[in-house]
Amino acid sequence: MIKRENEAMGSRIQDIDVKVKGDTMKSAVRSVPDYYGENVFSLKAMRNYLSENAYKSLSATIQKGGKLDPSIADEVADAMKRWAIEKGATHYTHWFQPLTGLTAEKHDSFIAPDGEGGAILEFSGEKLIQGEPDASSFPSGGLRPTFEARGYTGWDPTSPAFIKEGPTSATLCIPTYFVGWYGEALDKKTPLLRSMKALAIQAERLARLLGIKCTQQAFSTLGGEQEYFLIDRNFYNQRIDLIQTGRTLFGKEPAKHQQMADHYFGAIKTRVIAFMEELDREMWRLGAPVTTRHNEVSPGQFEVAPIFENQNLAVDHNMLTMEVMQKVAERHGLACLLHEKPFAGVNGSGKHNNWSITGPDGKNWLSPGANPHENERFLVVLCAVIKAVDEYAELLRASVASAGNDHRLGSHEAPPAIISIYLGEQLNDIIEQIAEGTAKSSKQGGSLEVGIDSLPTLPRHASDRNRTSPFAFTGSKFEFRAVGSGMSLAGPNIVLNTIVAEALDQICTELEKSGKKDINKAVQKILKGIITKHRRVIFNGDNYTEVWLKEAKKRGLANLVTTPEALEVLKQKRIADLFEKHKVLTKRELDSRYGVYTETYVSIIKYEANLMVDMVKALFVPAALGYQAELAETIKSVETINKTKSTNARGILKEVTKLTEAAIARAASLEKLAGGTSTVKTCEGMEKLRESVDALESLAPADRWPLPTYTEMLFLY
Ligand code: ADP
Ligand code: MG
Repeated sequence: MIKRENEAMGSRIQDIDVKVKGDTMKSAVRSVPDYYGENVFSLKAMRNYLSENAYKSLSATIQKGGKLDPSIADEVADAMKRWAIEKGATHYTHWFQPLTGLTAEKHDSFIAPDGEGGAILEFSGEKLIQGEPDASSFPSGGLRPTFEARGYTGWDPTSPAFIKEGPTSATLCIPTYFVGWYGEALDKKTPLLRSMKALAIQAERLARLLGIKCTQQAFSTLGGEQEYFLIDRNFYNQRIDLIQTGRTLFGKEPAKHQQMADHYFGAIKTRVIAFMEELDREMWRLGAPVTTRHNEVSPGQFEVAPIFENQNLAVDHNMLTMEVMQKVAERHGLACLLHEKPFAGVNGSGKHNNWSITGPDGKNWLSPGANPHENERFLVVLCAVIKAVDEYAELLRASVASAGNDHRLGSHEAPPAIISIYLGEQLNDIIEQIAEGTAKSSKQGGSLEVGIDSLPTLPRHASDRNRTSPFAFTGSKFEFRAVGSGMSLAGPNIVLNTIVAEALDQICTELEKSGKKDINKAVQKILKGIITKHRRVIFNGDNYTEVWLKEAKKRGLANLVTTPEALEVLKQKRIADLFEKHKVLTKRELDSRYGVYTETYVSIIKYEANLMVDMVKALFVPAALGYQAELAETIKSVETINKTKSTNARGILKEVTKLTEAAIARAASLEKLAGGTSTVKTCEGMEKLRESVDALESLAPADRWPLPTYTEMLFLY
């Protein structure tokens, strides 16, 4: 299965091609504003291709969220086509996000025979607005029997069309949602857009009650910080586990890994920065505002983060970023790993989900301002979030459940599976004041004195940071940190929007009962009630400790460690009612999601287990038996010549034999477990088998071990 020569570790190291590749000079000399967004059919591009009327109508839909005027569709399609052809496009595709969590595309060319043996290039409004891919092969969780295959993709004008460049020509990509024959959602974008609308409705309602002027549609904002690993592609190509499952199923922890914390924010190696530079340029050309890049905690681990955007666009841009990262890595002779736990023993990768609401007044509603205690709008939204997260903690947990993320949550590197909120000193103080009666003051940040006169004094934030909390207030937004690196950001944001919409709905209903005159009093009373009831979800300490596990249990907070446990919440009636009430998902749609996610989980566990068995049989057992034969021969000859017993060498042989036997036996039992129905038992079997094999690795000579090691993969660039 894997072809691998038994080279010595040394020669493997020399194999690495450390030349920096890519388009370094060509693009670098262009200034960023010259090429930013050049591959996007943006408002700016539209101006040059659309009539004044069509432009105005479409930009109103995009910016203000108005209804799309279908009569302009043909003109927009033609404009898009002309623009795309100038960029080298021969094809177009409706680009969508099925429940696989990936993106999907089916290309059609613009060509139409002209009847005289030639062809013209055509694209109509009809084709822009609607596509009809065969839906039967996408997961639907029983929503679509395979004989009812119709599915439709529909144009989402609020996320601009863009160009994907191939080796010799390009494709016009049109972001779309994906629904079935009855309009049932088969994707992640449809419920995301519905949930954004649900939240916008409640935000507007609150604005009216608080006397805030509405000038635009409210929308949620999102900035997704993306963690990832890079390894040399030669190593990747030699690891069938990485290729097929995205993670290493075996591998002994290296002696030195992240103990020294010397990788985090360290100087970036040339080969890596070359990758990052090209990634940034590619994303900027696509109009995606990536801005932050740095080394992460584990060796070989990095992060890229964008400037936040409208949530729908931010989700699309994150999907695109993940795709482009893999392509750019390939061009640099690297492999980009997006799995949540590619390597055991070192940190896994997450995706910090920075979430807020821009209100109908165009302001960030989670911005506390200088005196948060007086900022009514802010306090209401803050308390709505606290209420929402406490009431639907399990649903939030379910939204980040996956086989990959199970390896990460609760492993003292990522937040535990217990959902709690970190507010920081300043907000916590205000919350306490509200609980007591009214909030009269806000703790201020002050300044930082370093004790050296020549250095400027720095302003200090009113609150410190807490990296261990799964859901932290970080200045002007909430940061949900339990999201997995490989996931679509849509899921957790659908939940966030919906649960906060529900909390706001309840708050508004209460407020509507009081007269306009008494509104401030009513707000105070409601917030006090929320804090008293839901403060158990607030925790400002270290979430990684045993003490917190115990404390959380006492507070009655759920700790759903595995995906199957976490997904069960989707079957609760109150969850179905919540999604139906806010028109985000019907019960059928929710059930289908439960079906898809549980099935996906079971499939992953099964194929990982089966691959482990295959690898043991094809790679490790032959290598270990070969080593035993060699050892036995050697010991025999050495003892004959020396005429003494090589006791220690015999000890090694015994140990190798014992571990090999254990590996064979454990592989056989795992094979049985994987054919059974218990994923818990299968996971335990996988862990046991891995133990034996990793122990064997630590005894085997480097040139006999059939796979690149952790040390090689994590440290060699
Ligand atoms: P951190 O707090 O993690 O050190 P930043 O403050 O720079 O880093 O923000 C991290 C991410 O949060 C960035 O992607 C940033 O654009 C995003 N962010 C900032 N403000 C908002 C907001 N109002 N809504 C959503 N995301 C935001
Ligand atoms: Mg962060």
